[in-house]
Amino acid sequence: MSLTAEKVKELKLTCADAREKTVEIIISGGGGHIGGDLSETDVLVNLYDYMKHDPKNPKWEGRDYFVLSKGHSAEALYAVLFQQGYLAQAELDQFGKLGALLGGHPTKKVNGVEANTGSLGHGMGLATGMALALKMDGKDNRVFVMTGDGELAEGSNWEAAMSAAKFGLTNLTWIVDRNCLQISGSTEDVMPLESLAAKAKAFGFHVIEIDGHDHNEIREALESRTEGKPTCIIAKTTKGKGMAPAENQAGWHHKTPTAEQFEAMKADLEKYRKEL
Ligand SMILES: [Mg+2]
Repeated sequence: MSLTAEKVKELKLTCADAREKTVEIIISGGGGHIGGDLSETDVLVNLYDYMKHDPKNPKWEGRDYFVLSKGHSAEALYAVLFQQGYLAQAELDQFGKLGALLGGHPTKKVNGVEANTGSLGHGMGLATGMALALKMDGKDNRVFVMTGDGELAEGSNWEAAMSAAKFGLTNLTWIVDRNCLQISGSTEDVMPLESLAAKAKAFGFHVIEIDGHDHNEIREALESRTEGKPTCIIAKTTKGKGMAPAENQAGWHHKTPTAEQFEAMKADLEKYRKEL
C-alpha cells in the first residue's frame, strides 16, 4: 500500500527534524557516530511510525520489538525516541556526560530500547531469539533488527540467519543499513559483501532491496512478508545523508561537526522543508 502524498511529506519533515536533533545531540555530547546515524534515519522514522508500540507503556505485551544491532549509531535512535515521546529533552542534554542515561551505545535502561547493543554482530542473535520465543508463545508480535553492513563480517550474524530460516521466523525482519562504508573504508574493500541479496536469499530469507531514503519503498518493505520465511530488507543508503561534507565519506564514521558545518546543515534542511 502506497503512502499518501500528505503522509510522505509528514515523514520527510519528521526525518529532517530527526537529522537536526541527531547532530544537536552529537555536538552537545562531544562526539558521535554521525555517518551511520544519518544513513539510518529514514528507516528508523518509518519503523517507529509503523511498528505497534506505546511510549506511555514501553513494556506493553502487544508491542513489536526493535533491536539496533549497529548500536554505535545510537544518536539517531535517541532522536527518534525523543520524537516518539520516550525521551525528554533534559535526557538528551545529558548525552555523553558522566552518569547520564544516554551513552554512546543504547542500553535497556532507556525506555523503548529492547537490548544493550554496540558489540557488533550480537543484534541478529538477540532478535532471532526474541522472534523464536514469540512464535513459541503463539504471539504475532513482530521483531525488527537493523544491522550495519560492515558489521556483517561478524560470523555470528550468519549463524543467527541460519537459525531464523530453520525456525521459519516470518515474524523476524532484518534490515541492513547498506551504506557501503564502514569505519576503515568501503565494505567491498574491507570485506566484500556482494552479492548480499543473493547471500540472504541463499540463507533462506525473503529478500527485498530498496532505496533506504524512499518512504514508500521503506513502508512497502516493512509490510512485505512471505509465510514461513524471515525477511531481509537491504536498504541502500548514503552514509552521512543530509550533512553535505559527511555524505559518502568514511572519515565521518565518528566525527563532531563544527558549529559552521551544523549551521550550513540547518540551512540546507530549512530549504528542504520549504520546498516540500
Ligand atoms: Mg556501513
